[in-house]
Amino acid sequence: MSCALWWVRRDLRLVDNQALNSALELVGQVVPVFILDERLLASSYMSEKRLAFLWCGLRELDRNLRCLGSYLVVRRGDPQAELRKLLQECQAQAIFAELDHTPYASARDQRIAEQLPVTWVGSPAAKPPGSVLKGNGAPFTVFTPFSKAWKALPGPQPGQRFSQPQQVASPVGIPSDPIPTLPELPEGFSFLPGEAEAQRRLADFLHTPIEEIDFHLPPVYHYAASRNQLDIPGTSQLSPYLRFGMLSARQAIAGAMQAIQDAPHLEARQSAETWLNELIWREFYIHMLYHYPSVRRENFRLPHVRWENDQANFQAWCEGRTGYPVVDAAMRQLLHSGWMHNRARMIVASFLTKDLLIDWRWGERWFMQQLVDGDPAANNGGWQWTAGTGTDAAPYFRIFNPVSQGLKHDPQGRYIRRWLPELRRVPDEYLHEPWKMPPDLQKAAGWFIGVDYPAPLVDHSQARERALLAYKQDRN
Ligand SMILES: Cc1cc2nc3c(=O)[nH]c(=O)nc-3n(C[C@H](O)[C@H](O)[C@H](O)COP(=O)(O)OP(=O)(O)OC[C@H]3O[C@@H](n4cnc5c(N)ncnc54)[C@H](O)[C@@H]3O)c2cc1C
Repeated sequence: MSCALWWVRRDLRLVDNQALNSALELVGQVVPVFILDERLLASSYMSEKRLAFLWCGLRELDRNLRCLGSYLVVRRGDPQAELRKLLQECQAQAIFAELDHTPYASARDQRIAEQLPVTWVGSPAAKPPGSVLKGNGAPFTVFTPFSKAWKALPGPQPGQRFSQPQQVASPVGIPSDPIPTLPELPEGFSFLPGEAEAQRRLADFLHTPIEEIDFHLPPVYHYAASRNQLDIPGTSQLSPYLRFGMLSARQAIAGAMQAIQDAPHLEARQSAETWLNELIWREFYIHMLYHYPSVRRENFRLPHVRWENDQANFQAWCEGRTGYPVVDAAMRQLLHSGWMHNRARMIVASFLTKDLLIDWRWGERWFMQQLVDGDPAANNGGWQWTAGTGTDAAPYFRIFNPVSQGLKHDPQGRYIRRWLPELRRVPDEYLHEPWKMPPDLQKAAGWFIGVDYPAPLVDHSQARERALLAYKQDRN
C-alpha cells in the first residue's frame, strides 16, 4: 500500500496520534485531511468561539505538518462524499482515523465504514467505551465503581514518553479549500489554539509553581483545595485542548500518574489523585453518552420534573442579570471568555434548574453555544448531575445557595469584581448580597440597586422550597 488518508477529527495533534502513527507504519505517503461537515456547522449547538478556536487550531496543525514535509488538506461538505473523492484524487487505498464516540459521529462513521476502507485507531478517551464494563458486561452508571474498574485496566503509565513523527511524506499538489477566517477569536482570548500551547499548559500545571498559589510546588499539588477557588488559576485550564485532541487524554493521564508517584508528601499526592479523578470523570461521561445516547435528549432519572421555563428569567440568566453576583460574574465570564470555572458551572447550573426551575436542556444548549471546550459528553453529564436527573447525580435536594457559594469560593470578591464592573462602588461587605446595602449608603456611593445592578430575580429561600416541591411531586 503506498498512500493513505489520515482523517483528522477530534485529534488536532501530532504528538501521541495513534491514527497518524498507524498510517505511517503501513504506507509510504499520508494525506492529512480535515472535512468541514456542513451539518455540524449548521447545528444549534454550534459556538462561534469554539469554531474560531477550531479554525486557528487547524492553521496551527497545518503549520506543524509543513515543518514535517506535509500539509493539511481541508474540504467542505459531506464527509463520505469528500473522502470518496479524495481517495481517488490521491490514489489512496486506506483511511485512518481516531474514533469519535458521540451519537452523531458514531452513526455517521458506521455508515462511512460500510462504504469506504476506514481503520479506526485510538480514541478521545484513554480507555474507550466498551473497555470498562461490569463483570456481567453491562456499563457502569455510577462513577466510583467505574473509576475502580478503569484504574484496574492497563493504560497510560507514569513516565511514559509520547512522541511525534519526524517526517510525514505526502503527495504534492492535492488542492485544499481555505481554512475559514471568520468567526475570529475574541480580543484578549486566553486560550491560544494549538498543541504547543497544550503541551506548555500541561508542563506548567505539573511542574511550575505559580505565585498565586505557592512558590514551591506546582499547581497539581494544590489542586484538591485550589480547584474550588474562583479567584485563582487553580485548575489546569486544559479542557479546550482535550476537547479538540490538541493534547491526548493518554498523555494528560500519564502526567497525573507521574505527579502521584513524585508527590513530596501525602497531601500533595492526594491532590494529584484528585486531578486524575477529574480526568476519569471525563472518561466516565464519554462512556455514558456512548452507552446511553438518549441522555442527550432525556433525563436519565426523574423523567417528569415540572419545569417553569420562564423565557425572561432564562434571558436574564444568559446575560448575567439575575441579581446574584456570583451567578452573574460566572455568566459574564462565559459570555466574554468562552470558558467558566467548574465550581461556577455547578453554581449557575443549580441556579437555573433549581432556583429558576428551567429545564437543564436550555442551559446545556446555551453552554454549548458559548463554551470553547463545549463537549457533548461532559456538558450533558455536568448538567444532568447538577439538575439531579443524571447518572450518579447530585441528590435532587442539593440546591446551591448562591450567596454562601460566593462567600466560600470567592471570599475577597475578586472574581465578582473582575467580571461585574458595575459593582465597583459596592463595599466588600455587601458584594455578595448588594440588595442589602442600606439606602443611605447607596445614595452616598451614587449606586442604586434596581438601577445600576438588578435586584435578585427570585428570593433564594422561597425558590428553594418551590424547587423541593417540584422535584418531590415528581417522585410521587
Ligand atoms: C454544568 C457543567 C457543564 C460542563 N460542561 C463541560 C464541557 O462542555 N466540556 C468540558 O470539557 N467540561 C465540562 N464540564 C466539566 C468541567 O467544568 C470542566 O471540564 C472544567 O471546568 C475544565 O477546566 P480545567 O481544564 O481547568 O479542568 P481541570 O480541573 O484541570 O481538570 C482536568 C480535565 O479533566 C476534565 N474534567 C474535569 N472535571 C470534569 C468533569 N466534572 N466532567 C468531565 N470532565 C472533567 C476536563 O477535560 C479537564 O480539562 C462541565 C461541568 C458542569 C458542572
